[in-house]
Amino acid sequence: MTATTPDITPADEFTGVGTILNPATGAVAGEVRWTDPAGIDAIAADLRRAQRDWEQRGAKGRAKALARFAVWLDDHRGEIEDLLIAETGKSASDAAVEVTLLVMILSYVIKTMEKALAPEHRPASLPILAIKKITVYYRPRPVVGIIAPWNYPVANALMDAIGALAAGCTVLLKPSERTPLTAEVLRRGWLESGAPDVLAVVQGARAVAEAVVDNSDYVQFTGSTATGRKVAERAARRLTPVSLELGGKDPMIVCEDADIELAAHAAVWGAMFNAGQTCVSVERVYVLEQVYDKFVEAVVRDVNELQMGAGEGHHFGAMIDDSQVSIAARHVDEAVAAGARALTGGKRPNGVGSFYPPTVLVDVDHSMTCMTEETFGPTLPIMKVAGVDEAIRLANDSPYGLSASVFSGDVSRAKDIAVQLDCGAVNINDVISNLMCTTAPMGGWKSSGIGARFGGADGMRKFCRQEAVVAPRTNVGAGGNYYHNSLKRLAATTKMITQVALRRPRRAAK
Ligand code: NAD
Repeated sequence: MTATTPDITPADEFTGVGTILNPATGAVAGEVRWTDPAGIDAIAADLRRAQRDWEQRGAKGRAKALARFAVWLDDHRGEIEDLLIAETGKSASDAAVEVTLLVMILSYVIKTMEKALAPEHRPASLPILAIKKITVYYRPRPVVGIIAPWNYPVANALMDAIGALAAGCTVLLKPSERTPLTAEVLRRGWLESGAPDVLAVVQGARAVAEAVVDNSDYVQFTGSTATGRKVAERAARRLTPVSLELGGKDPMIVCEDADIELAAHAAVWGAMFNAGQTCVSVERVYVLEQVYDKFVEAVVRDVNELQMGAGEGHHFGAMIDDSQVSIAARHVDEAVAAGARALTGGKRPNGVGSFYPPTVLVDVDHSMTCMTEETFGPTLPIMKVAGVDEAIRLANDSPYGLSASVFSGDVSRAKDIAVQLDCGAVNINDVISNLMCTTAPMGGWKSSGIGARFGGADGMRKFCRQEAVVAPRTNVGAGGNYYHNSLKRLAATTKMITQVALRRPRRAAK
């Protein structure tokens, strides 16, 4: 099976000034000046020039700049969230998580970056090499290109940029052309908080994104699987490394011994949060038959309580635009046509705005797109299964492998299930929470990506090149095994090294 995420990248008509509309109301959210793709090499060259000073500040100096930016973000969160709601049509409570996530990441990075980026001394691999002192330096890649999607315009813009900036890189950020506005405020904040001009924002769609790939020393891409493949192909031309955080079809498994109320609350939140437009989420549920009816009843009760609408007083808001609504509507319509039942929602409401109602589907199976393709909308298809083995088999029957969740009253049983799931993260008796645990790597398997974000020190080191410096620890043995020695001595030395290296395998092979 291959990933079938539709390629919805719009055509490139991004010149001059663009107007961004609020998808909930149709009102103007703001204007953006699109960047000329031909000018991106000059922007990258400026970043490259600024990077040396930024690197030379050292981790301590950069931590200070990041700390000031964290304070700026909190001081301006009202302004940021108002604009975020205007450009996405989100509810206020969904919008509120974005600045919070950035502040959490900044807090962790500031605390750990000095140690994470410090040169590392490595021991010699054999006693004979003890005369060498081995040091590994983490040297930043000068320009990190970040290409972001629209679902979390604030968090997606900077959650990777923070690690790159901490590492001493500069950042060339391209937000989604559907949500370009908040990134401009974030750049303004970076400069207003006193940081140097090492965070550039360029605006546009495919042509600008391609120029970012061409001018970066590392590409951090978040978006659909279809576009991720194009990024990997283009980056390969210059052998530029990439980290691809792509789509998913995250399964949830509910065992017969689970706390069903908790599982139902979590399933509804995991599926509907941000109008279902969250990568790490709940896209499909497998429930053991003993507790299926109880679970479905609790889910429907919770969903019927949800208030849909943008801004204050609502649980979740609009989808990003009508093309996204039509994917959710198609998956629901196709499922219902094939025999599924929509217990809630299921029909696009009349009126203004790109809204789709929270929709619980039952009597679903893997012949339906709602169970196999990424919906990225407020839908919750639930399937009854006879046992845990069937649930694991179906959960793994997907081209994607981003994350999953398992609910069971027995945590060690849930862990046992978790390690049989082919995906980058599993939440036990919870959903989405791995995203908040920045010491854990967040990365997809299979068509969900390559590489990972976060992961403690790895989340900063990934933006660096490793430089190994091998120096003499002592002058004893200096002079090397060079040609000025006799051929006999060269041969004897090689033989002696081999014998020393063979001691361990000989012992272990017994
Ligand atoms: P998308 O792939 O359409 O666009 C993502 C970005 O790529 C945009 O900035 C776009 O302008 C740019 N782009 C377009 N064409 C390009 C090209 N040829 N080369 C390089 N860049 C190009 O994705 P989207 O619709 O913005 O986002 C939704 C998708 O993102 C979903 O599939 C979702 O699962 C995924 N996502 C994944 C994660 C994760 O961490 N795994 C997080 C958020 C979203």
